[in-house]
Amino acid sequence: MGVTLRLEDIRHEYPPTEESGAVQALSEVDLQIDSGDFAVLMGPSGSGKSTLLNVIGAVDRPTGGTLHFGDRDIAAADSRELTLLRRKRIGFVFQFFHLIPTFTVRENVAFPLHLLKEKASDIAPRVAAILAEIGLTERASHYPNELSGGEMQRVAIARAVIHEPDLILADEPTGNLDTKTGDTILELIREIHLRRRPTIVMATHSERTAAYGDYVIDVLDGSAARR
Ligand code: ADP
Repeated sequence: MGVTLRLEDIRHEYPPTEESGAVQALSEVDLQIDSGDFAVLMGPSGSGKSTLLNVIGAVDRPTGGTLHFGDRDIAAADSRELTLLRRKRIGFVFQFFHLIPTFTVRENVAFPLHLLKEKASDIAPRVAAILAEIGLTERASHYPNELSGGEMQRVAIARAVIHEPDLILADEPTGNLDTKTGDTILELIREIHLRRRPTIVMATHSERTAAYGDYVIDVLDGSAARR
């Protein structure tokens, strides 16, 4: 597991809207994140962290530069390739969980494997194993609105790792949780990192949260540099 990310002169510009001109959200970003690293993006709101996560996660194609995901330059890839890369090799964790409200816990966790067209008979035991790992077996048939915030984030983490991605991206994963619950979520992310060794990139504006990673990349006004 794991993947090395190499960003060279990455730029990202949002096009102008009726309300505002074009926004240069990233400019001249040069970074290398090695396979198995747990890197933390830190910077104030509006500095470009989410844009950088979306570019690294093949959600948005950068408007300039090269971005090697392993040996592939994904800045030049077409949408179909980016979609496949996201489904197979990346797991996302969000501040507001983004669980599917009409799906049970079990169905939410299984969803990435259905997208990959895995067999139902293979999916069930994998989902059961990961629910046991995160301690939510007895919640398997519950719906997201029956869970606490911490439980919802555990389910979202299970969904992010069920397909054994090489890269896990987390955008303020504890931003909507109290400090104590947040710490248990960060410990879970750290355990997953130790056990499976994916590359992890996590964005936060909290030093306390950042301390869980291996190192910090400071993001400011669209620039990024390792601390
Ligand atoms: P952060 O995650 O650090 O809060 P963002 O990456 O969300 O920062 O934003 C960086 C800059 O890009 C900000 O100036 C923000 O207003 C702008 N921005 C973010 N998303 C969009 C968008 N979809 N369209 C236009 N501008 C955007």
